[in-house]
Amino acid sequence: MKKRSRTKRNQLYNIHQANEIHLFSHKLDRILSGQSPGCLVAMNIRKFKFINEIFGREFADQLLVDTKRIIKSLLKPNEFCCRDHADLFYIYLEDSQPEGAKQRIEDMMNHISSQFVVSVDSRYQILFYAGIVLYSKETASHDLHAHNLMTSSHFALASARDLAPNHAWIYDAELHKKEELEYYVESRMHRALEDQEFLMFLQPKIDLKRRAAAGAEALVRWKSSEGKMLFPNDFIPVFERNGFCTQLDPYMVHQACKLLRQWIDDGKHVLPISVNQSKTTIFQTGYVRCIQQLLQEYQIPPGLITIEILEDAALYGSDALSELIRELRALGVRTSMDDFGTGYSSLTLLGNLPINELKLDWKFLRKASENPRSRIIMEYVLQLAKQLDLSTVVEGIETQAQSEMVRTLGGDYGQGYLYSKPIPAEEFTAQYTDHI
Ligand code: C2E
Ligand code: MG
Ligand code: MG
Repeated sequence: MKKRSRTKRNQLYNIHQANEIHLFSHKLDRILSGQSPGCLVAMNIRKFKFINEIFGREFADQLLVDTKRIIKSLLKPNEFCCRDHADLFYIYLEDSQPEGAKQRIEDMMNHISSQFVVSVDSRYQILFYAGIVLYSKETASHDLHAHNLMTSSHFALASARDLAPNHAWIYDAELHKKEELEYYVESRMHRALEDQEFLMFLQPKIDLKRRAAAGAEALVRWKSSEGKMLFPNDFIPVFERNGFCTQLDPYMVHQACKLLRQWIDDGKHVLPISVNQSKTTIFQTGYVRCIQQLLQEYQIPPGLITIEILEDAALYGSDALSELIRELRALGVRTSMDDFGTGYSSLTLLGNLPINELKLDWKFLRKASENPRSRIIMEYVLQLAKQLDLSTVVEGIETQAQSEMVRTLGGDYGQGYLYSKPIPAEEFTAQYTDHI
């Protein structure tokens, strides 16, 4: 009985929320068609999930109610606000100048923060961030709708997340380009996969002692039907957010297996291929079985495939990652930790994960080329890897001097524009697999 009444209350609450956002959009649409300038603000509470978990649902609910009440009290007569789902608030302000709007919303956030101090042993400050979209007489029209502005405000909000607390980010031309690209990518990705618009480019991995190609890294390119070439940084981050990586990544393994089978059948000099797999992909249920099936389908010796994983995959928990690597290892598939030295690097992680290879990020190399202290660190990491029985690859080698330096410091393999840019698979086949 109790449960049923709670469900009912939740249902009523959801209907109320839906009504609120509907009314807000309606009001905003009316203002937009009236052509008077202003701005839309999207605002979030920092770490709201954490607040919910640590201070409890009741406190968090009250925080939402109070926040809205305070925002309302700071608005001018024609301005209005609403709360969408969770901790997302929308505010319409009449301010149409960037500095004025930013100042006002930042003052508002500071004021709200000053009203709450949560005390559980230590003082915890409630903080906010906000994204602003300004529109003017020129842009306000019948074609500009509330939902477009809301989408744009989310982009500005996402950029504000990394700013100092209680700061706002204004939607600008650069974000507009990003939004357009994201729209393009999301609306075309499924069709592109069906139409085989994702191409496998390969970049050789050079054995620094033998000075010869010892493997290849598969890097995806998207050649759209209009002939536009898109690079991973344009679409992989979007795919990681919307989950499409879980389709693209196995497709790339599939392409690699197909090419390896072709090399074997044609009697070519077969080189192992490394494929990049995102963390959302590798933790999918059935991932290891999917790799196993591809290897079986094309009859590929498992050692010819290396799975490159970014070190931030360990954020899911290094135990889960260890287990996964162990399963791949049991199949005979090699694993490599990509972009080592960026962000989350931890030497402890190296001790815990049963990987086969360590790839040092190009930023590591840049620093080592410029600064003797960084060179010492690089040498230590390369030596440490060797002692842990890991082979090492240094990425982004662009000059002969860098190649020499990496070899002298004890690096096993190098990758970079000095040897070759990533090239189409057919070109790679012609250049690197014809002779032994
Ligand atoms: P990554 O795996 O670290 O790949 C190396 C990147 O450095 C590639 O960029 C490559 O073109 C670039 N590069 C190689 N040599 C040099 C050099 O000498 N100088 C400079 N400045 N850059 C060099 P790309 O192809 O744009 O790929 C970017 C990232 O996208 C990759 O970084 C990888 O993390 C991701 N990625 C690529 N293909 C896939 C894929 O199929 N699935 C997933 N999940 N991620 C992928
Ligand atoms: Mg890689
Ligand atoms: Mg890398």
